[in-house]
Amino acid sequence: MSNIRISRVVKTTRVEGPGLRYSIWVQGCPIKCEGCFNPHTWAFDGGTLIDVEELFEDIKSTLEENSLLEGVTFLGGEPFSQAKELSVLAEWVRELGLSIVTFTGYEYENITIANNQQWNRLLEYTDLLIDGPYIQSQHDLSRPWVGSKNQQYRFLSNFYKDIEKILVNINNKLEIRIHPDGRVSVNGMAEMTDLEMLSKVGIDIT
Ligand code: SF4
Repeated sequence: MSNIRISRVVKTTRVEGPGLRYSIWVQGCPIKCEGCFNPHTWAFDGGTLIDVEELFEDIKSTLEENSLLEGVTFLGGEPFSQAKELSVLAEWVRELGLSIVTFTGYEYENITIANNQQWNRLLEYTDLLIDGPYIQSQHDLSRPWVGSKNQQYRFLSNFYKDIEKILVNINNKLEIRIHPDGRVSVNGMAEMTDLEMLSKVGIDIT
């Protein structure tokens, strides 16, 4: 089976899309937005390779352990750079009744114009697409899960149609996790100055 190059996984989080989600930060991004919160995910030879089937089995066991799991989020890094493998995973995940949220630095219109078979397949299995690069001059954390005003929510299936109108009421949040080995990590959206402050006190913000 094929591999996905990932930066990290958080098995259950409530700050990377609607509800409780298994979130996969893929490794490798060609877009390189100025001010990107995750520049460590840019290198295509970084991160770790993981077999798609193994990743799926882990999602399945996470669901067995926690029936509140609502879906899987792909972010990064650039998910469309690994669209072939992610669309296979997304198809299997949807068969479990879970949703797919995909973040991309590309704009939706450009993805559709490209008419790339693998990109189209990833779109086909995505319920909510959050698209557009991070633009520092349009920095804005007032909407959930996004960092700049230009980024858009595309409801590609009916799964999340009901949240379309209440999006403005959802706040951006940061999750802080203390691991059994004493390591502390965070994910979610926060001002860069806050993240830098956390990093200075030794908290892993990757
Ligand atoms: S697309 Fe996302 S990961 Fe890539 S540089 Fe822009 S903000 Fe960073």
